[in-house]
Amino acid sequence: MEAADVGGVHIKYLYHCRRQLWLYVRGIRPEHLSTAVQLGEAVHDTSYTRHSPVDLGAARLDFVDGGHWVHEVKSSSRASPADQAQGRHYCHRLRGLGIEAQGAVLHYPKTRRTQRFPYTPEAKAQAEADIVEVLAVAAAPTSPERLTRSACRGCSFTDYCWTE
Ligand code: SF4
Repeated sequence: MEAADVGGVHIKYLYHCRRQLWLYVRGIRPEHLSTAVQLGEAVHDTSYTRHSPVDLGAARLDFVDGGHWVHEVKSSSRASPADQAQGRHYCHRLRGLGIEAQGAVLHYPKTRRTQRFPYTPEAKAQAEADIVEVLAVAAAPTSPERLTRSACRGCSFTDYCWTE
């Protein structure tokens, strides 16, 4: 795995659970069993349908507006560090393509909230550090430790991690 292969899902898992990231890069993907993911897809199906996703190779974001803000529609109720990290990552990818991304706008239709995160020099440095961190987790010879049982609630890998 190389830096160019790091996409939004890798970044999300880095923030959610490093073990999840480690499993994911090894091709283990039980997401189709997860109601949380199905809900996410349903939200995507019914919201902001006038926009087409933007494919950046390893990364895929919801849309970019005329002011070069990245928009992401989320199925959760409010912004998490993982959501912010994904937004930063997409800005980083766009900048790499010569598009002056200004930052991320995260939409939460469930709570009708919108949050803006400008792509500052600090955000850029963090986006670069996150990619390095993803590669380090991916290259680890053994899987990182599980989170606590309560932190695993709702994770699509629960059966995998907690079936002894
Ligand atoms: S079940 Fe827990 S330890 Fe396993 S990947 Fe999910 S969050 Fe991580």
